[in-house]
Amino acid sequence: MGFRVRLEPAGKEFTTEAKETVLEAAMRHGIILPYSCRNGACATCKGRILSGSVDYGEYEAHALSDDERAAGMALFCQAVPLEDVVIEAREISAAEGIVIKTLPCRVVNMGKLSHDVMALDLKLPEGERLQYLPGQYVDILLRDGKRRSFSLASAPRDDALLQLHIRHVPGGHFSGHVFTRMKERDLLRFRGPLGTFFLRRESERPVILMAGGTGFAPIKAILEHALASGIDRPMHLFWGARARRDLYLHELALAWAGSHDQFRYTPVLSEPASEDRWDGRGGWVHEAVVEDYPDLREHEIYASGPPPMVEAGKQAFMQHGLAEDRYFHDSFEFAHDVA
Ligand SMILES: Cc1cc2nc3c(=O)[nH]c(=O)nc-3n(C[C@H](O)[C@H](O)[C@H](O)COP(=O)(O)OP(=O)(O)OC[C@H]3O[C@@H](n4cnc5c(N)ncnc54)[C@H](O)[C@@H]3O)c2cc1C
Repeated sequence: MGFRVRLEPAGKEFTTEAKETVLEAAMRHGIILPYSCRNGACATCKGRILSGSVDYGEYEAHALSDDERAAGMALFCQAVPLEDVVIEAREISAAEGIVIKTLPCRVVNMGKLSHDVMALDLKLPEGERLQYLPGQYVDILLRDGKRRSFSLASAPRDDALLQLHIRHVPGGHFSGHVFTRMKERDLLRFRGPLGTFFLRRESERPVILMAGGTGFAPIKAILEHALASGIDRPMHLFWGARARRDLYLHELALAWAGSHDQFRYTPVLSEPASEDRWDGRGGWVHEAVVEDYPDLREHEIYASGPPPMVEAGKQAFMQHGLAEDRYFHDSFEFAHDVA
């Protein structure tokens, strides 16, 4: 049995099907709420229940505290209504009309970008195109019903080929397969585009982008698109990695900085190797951001990569005046193996 969900302040209504989460039902009706991991871990989909009750589902304690739950908050990627509910959440109109598809694709190129990052170029079936916003991700659908999320690293104007940057996770089911058995011409299936991590075009605010490791992938798509389409807002990329070899497209970022006045690039290494002879910035990448921008009241920040970086960034940036609703992030949570 389904229930009616009223979304405030938009005043829109939609219905859920049996056992359907608020987020799934909203998406089925073409209403896009903020979301990212869909595993109850990243908290992007957190919103308020103004009336009615829900089954809160499974989630990680850090994503929704007991106090927040007692104050009426819920994670809409997990919450299943138990009666008609009224909720409060921001609707994201930029993603409206983008169709989420399940498509086959062929791996046409594989190339190592570093010791543990592989670029995969995926080709869609003849005549098929994927409309997406730079920064969005896809779920690779595995044979056993599992899914793995990877950001689209290429900008949509190059959508004849979709590029992914896959980091080899030790013991990782899918990334292990990519690094050991996958061959060019293999077939994959994916669902997408997904997520709400993309540049908010309605704003003129200066932009800071913070990437950790392969968190560079969605930011590459965002920047390629923004720079090619003449967006002239100031944009400053901070890319955090352990050592120089992990900045797997350092020259590309340097080239953007050399050819676009409004773009700056600061690489930050936390554990540079001795052979790196690194005299650039060191330490944690979020600390470099607040050292350079102690007053963030006027900025928007886009962060993607390891969950601890995204969370540490949030704490630091809020302390330096960033408004919470101007912090956009894709936290690279690992899959919880739900089909
Ligand atoms: C929205 C989104 C976008 C993403 N985009 C990218 C991307 O562009 N490139 C990329 O490389 N990754 C990305 N990720 C992360 C990626 O989906 C996971 O790392 C994925 O689980 C890897 O699959 P696997 O089968 O190789 O490893 P799994 O079999 O899922 O993992 C095996 C074990 O390794 C550990 N593990 C796996 N991933 C991580 C992690 N990220 N951090 C800490 N421990 C981990 C866990 O203990 C896990 O049980 C993204 C995640 C999300 C949610």
